[in-house]
Amino acid sequence: MKRIILSLMLIATLGNLFAQSIVLNTKVSEMSFYSLPYAYEALEPTIDKLTVEIHYSKHHKAYFDNFLKASTGTDITSKSLLEVFANMTKYSDAIRNNAGGYYNHVIYWEILKPGNKSNISVELKNAIEKDFGSMDELKKQITDAAMKRFGSGWAWLSINADGKLFISSTPNQDNPLMDLSSQKGFPILGVDVWEHAYYLKYQNRRAEYVNIFWDAINWAVVSEYYSKSRTN
Ligand code: MN
Repeated sequence: MKRIILSLMLIATLGNLFAQSIVLNTKVSEMSFYSLPYAYEALEPTIDKLTVEIHYSKHHKAYFDNFLKASTGTDITSKSLLEVFANMTKYSDAIRNNAGGYYNHVIYWEILKPGNKSNISVELKNAIEKDFGSMDELKKQITDAAMKRFGSGWAWLSINADGKLFISSTPNQDNPLMDLSSQKGFPILGVDVWEHAYYLKYQNRRAEYVNIFWDAINWAVVSEYYSKSRTN
């Protein structure tokens, strides 16, 4: 258990050029809210402008603000999110939901970043073929995880401490970095299946949203996450 956390910390520390790693490794007292690296309309037509605007400026921002509020006056301010996640069971639900909510959305926005969408690395493509059989099978399994998540939560593609890819789903704002997660690993792709992520455009049609989301994934970013986690 300790070794898993240690290797995950190493992965996140050394990949420090990436938003995900910066968010994970910055001391809570020195954190500032993640800047969306594109305009609200940049994900049109997959995800409409208003959904991105509300999702980022209201929901995501509220997780960040509420996390800082809940951390004030506690020992959390001197820790990083990675340390908080590794000791999640020690903290309150307010910390769990808002720390998770803040970090999870960073991955979400990053892997949807416009540009180089189809640019998957040979390394990641080979790993997907080895661990899942094919890209189609990976998509099928992630869609399945997203559809089976009852209520609000996330579907994830992560890498475990043995370097193997796996798919999981978490309720609410939990994620695979949390010590309480049943399948632990380093997330390289996350699909938000809270209704606030799709309801304005897709209403109750979660499957349609997940399907379209798949086509908007920036595989260059996912490949970078994969590569950083592998080389370190
Ligand atoms: Mn969300």
